[in-house]
Amino acid sequence: LSASDLVEAHRICVCVRKRPLSKQEVKKKEIDVVSVRGKGAVLVHEPKQKVDLTKYLDNQVFQFDYCFDETSTNDLVYRFTAKPLVQSIFEGAMATCFAYGQTGSGKTHTMGGDFTGKLQNSSKGIYALAAQDVFALLSQRRYASLDLCPYVSFFEIYKGKVYDLLNKKAELRVLEDDRQQVQVVGLQEEYVSSVEEVIKMIEMGSTCRTSGQTSANANSSRSHAVLQIALRCSDRAKTLHGKFSLVDLAGNERGTDVSCNDRSTLVETAEINRSLLALTECIRSLGRNSDHIPFRMSTLTKVLRDSFIGEKSRTCMIATVSPGMASCDYTMNTLRYFLVFFHF
Ligand code: ADP
Ligand code: MG
Repeated sequence: LSASDLVEAHRICVCVRKRPLSKQEVKKKEIDVVSVRGKGAVLVHEPKQKVDLTKYLDNQVFQFDYCFDETSTNDLVYRFTAKPLVQSIFEGAMATCFAYGQTGSGKTHTMGGDFTGKLQNSSKGIYALAAQDVFALLSQRRYASLDLCPYVSFFEIYKGKVYDLLNKKAELRVLEDDRQQVQVVGLQEEYVSSVEEVIKMIEMGSTCRTSGQTSANANSSRSHAVLQIALRCSDRAKTLHGKFSLVDLAGNERGTDVSCNDRSTLVETAEINRSLLALTECIRSLGRNSDHIPFRMSTLTKVLRDSFIGEKSRTCMIATVSPGMASCDYTMNTLRYFLVFFHF
C-alpha cells in the first residue's frame, strides 16, 4: 500500500511524530519515555505511583496510521502525510494538514522548518516541501491544460481574531454570507511563481508572527498559524480549483499552570480549548460524512470551513510529542485526543 493509497482509503490520516531529546534535556538527564514500535504504534512508558509511593512505569500503546521516531526527517514525514494531499488539490480537493501538540514538541519545526540559519534543504518543513511539489505538478503535462496558478496566503489566529502575516499583522474580519461562504476580508493572497518566493513568504510571515514578543509571553505558541496554497484557474474570474491549508496549531497544553490567574491568559487558554474542541467536532462530522458541520464554533473552524465539506476533502493530522518524562502528561493528552480521529 503506497502513501497515496492510504490517504485514498481514509479521508483522515492520523500520525505521530516524536522529536529527539534536546541538548538541554540530555544535560538534565531527562528520561525518554516514548518509543515508536514499527510503523504505526507508539508506546508511552507512563510514570505511575505505586501504593508505597515509589514510581514505576506503565506501558500504554497507541495505534495510528504512521508513527515517526526521533530519527525521522521532515522529508520522510512529509512523504507519508502531506505529499499525497498536494496531488488531491490538483484534482479539485480542499486538503488540510494539521500539526498538533504541546509547545516545544516540534510543530513549527515540522510545518515551517528551521529557517534560523542560511537556507538549507534539510531545514525545509512541510510548507516548503508542499510548495515544491505544487510547482513540480504544475509543470506536468496532465495538469498543464488546466491553466492553474498558485497563490499563497499566511495568517494567524489569536484569541479568536485573524491577523495577516503577509501584511504586518493587519487585523482582518471574518464574514459569512447568506450562502454560508466564509470570507476573510482583505486577506493578502499573493501569486507565486517559484518555491523560492514561497520560502521568502514563509520566512517573512514567521518573523512577523514572532516579532514583538517577549519570551515570557510568547504569543506565537498560543496562536494558530495557517498557510494556504490555493490553485486558481488563470481566467479572469480566477475561480478556485483546489486549496491546501497547512495549520501550525496553538500549543495544546491546557491552563494547568495553577499559579496563573492572569485574566488575559485565562481568556487565551479558553479560546484555544474552544477552537481545538471545535476542530474535533468538525473533523468527526467530516469522518462521518455528516451534513451538519459545526464550523461556527470557533474562528479556526470558520476560516477552514471549506476543508470540512465536499466529497473530495482530505485531512492529515500530525501529533508532535516531546520524549521526556517531564512532558509525559501532555504527551498522553495529545495521543488520547488523537485517538478520536483514528479509524475514520
Ligand atoms: P513547537 O512549534 O511545537 O512549539 P518547535 O518546532 O519550535 O516546537 O520545536 C522546539 C525545539 O525543538 C526547536 O528548537 C526545534 O528546532 C527542535 N525540534 C523540534 N522537532 C525536532 C526534530 N524532529 N528534530 C530535531 N529538532 C527538533
Ligand atoms: Mg511553534
